[in-house]
Amino acid sequence: MQRVKKGDTVEVLGGDDRGRRGEVNSVFPKRGRVVVHGINLVKKHQRRAAGVTTQSGIIEFEAAVDLSNVAPVCTHCDKWTRVGYSDAGERKVRICRRCGNPLD
Ligand SMILES: [Zn+2]
Repeated sequence: MQRVKKGDTVEVLGGDDRGRRGEVNSVFPKRGRVVVHGINLVKKHQRRAAGVTTQSGIIEFEAAVDLSNVAPVCTHCDKWTRVGYSDAGERKVRICRRCGNPLD
């Protein structure tokens, strides 16, 4: 089960964007990386390619950050948290290790 899912609000724990929060745009479980909206912005100089109608010039996009550098933000206590699991119900849910409330 994934610690972080698409649509989660996560807080960045390390790197240049430490302390900032954003919504998860995509998760790459095999690579252990996530793309977070507005986090880890990098500029890329995109050259105009022949026959390709793509954006050219300097474009900015979010680069993937390592899963170990982000943690989900609990909606109950409004802090980032480590993730625990509870299988008390019918399906396994992620719980906040600070307050014990479900994250989903
Ligand atoms: Zn909590």
